[in-house]
Amino acid sequence: MKTLLISKKDLSYNVEKIKQMVRRNGPDDQGNYVKIIAVVKGNAYGLGLVEFTKFLSQKGIDFFAVASPEEAIELRKAGIEAEILLLSPVCLQTEIETLLENNIILTISSKESAEMLEQIAVKKELQPKVHLKIDTGFGRYGFLYQKPEEVLSTIKECPHLEIQGVFSHFSESFSQKPKWTEEQLNRFLSVIEVLKLNEISYGMLHISNSSAFLRYPTMDLNAVRIGSAFTGRTIGGNFGLKKIGKLKTNISEIKNLPKGYNIGYGNTYQTKKETKIAVLPIGHSDGFGIDGIEQKFKMISKIKMGIKNIIRNQNTKVEMDGKIYSVLGQIGMYHTVIDITGNENLKVGQEVEIEVRTVYIDNRIERQYR
Ligand SMILES: *Cc1c(COP(=O)(O)O)cnc(C)c1O
Repeated sequence: MKTLLISKKDLSYNVEKIKQMVRRNGPDDQGNYVKIIAVVKGNAYGLGLVEFTKFLSQKGIDFFAVASPEEAIELRKAGIEAEILLLSPVCLQTEIETLLENNIILTISSKESAEMLEQIAVKKELQPKVHLKIDTGFGRYGFLYQKPEEVLSTIKECPHLEIQGVFSHFSESFSQKPKWTEEQLNRFLSVIEVLKLNEISYGMLHISNSSAFLRYPTMDLNAVRIGSAFTGRTIGGNFGLKKIGKLKTNISEIKNLPKGYNIGYGNTYQTKKETKIAVLPIGHSDGFGIDGIEQKFKMISKIKMGIKNIIRNQNTKVEMDGKIYSVLGQIGMYHTVIDITGNENLKVGQEVEIEVRTVYIDNRIERQYR
């Protein structure tokens, strides 16, 4: 049995650090600091939706965001009473009604989504809170930034919607190059300027995700949407935050293979000498073979060995108990073979902790906060 271990101490460290960082620009004119919107989508990046949200609530976080209606409802069922923003628009009447009954803040990203919600609001005599989504170059949800007049007319035609916020999303804030991210910010601010000129009250403004938050303090606006930074696993660097989540498992087999022996599907690897191997019961279903440390080594191997070998997992590494081991052959759905030649300490059944990409870990695996 595998367990995903989550260190409360490390997680608290990250939360405190992020809470300090949102105060870096000082309070605004009303004395408020930048608000943290904790993004807990994807089963809270694999850390367990309800447990993670409860943990953050205890640390004083009171505003959450999710990507799907299911996540929003699950949080309410678990008794979470904090504000919950659904970051994606919904287009079905029954879904909208369920979400409103559960007091979920909805995202309005088009005239159609606004009109549907407005009709329901009128019928049910509600004044639902919404956030308007502006598309500043992501090409997914949102009013096109070039058409602020569409935002204006939508607001005018939907008087029952209470605009609690306006937001946009960066497509490349993890990049070392700020140019595109700055461009997106400017596009967003140009829409806000039009709202201002038309005396529309727009509430809180937010555009930064974790990587923008870590890199660009000037882009904080009124709120920041932080997901991966809590887990210390933000693409493009973790800026001193602790990596959260290690997979605990046991070595399932150890043996010596002779020289020239095949390992794994597709016969992509033959031992170059007599080799001592350990089999670990982890694989793609645990998000293993996709991320972080492996990526780094893949970059090196890309240069050295060409694309073909990357696909075959050659030069992929495992970080186990803080040490690095080579993966031999292809990683399977549930199994990985590593090279432990010369190592006399590792034993069958021994408990080991492995660096994994938590977001992909099977939901059936227990999450243990300790
Ligand atoms: C996932 C997501 C975030 C959080 O992204 P991180 O980089 O993990 O902080 C913020 N906003 C939106 C719209 C998202 O989908």
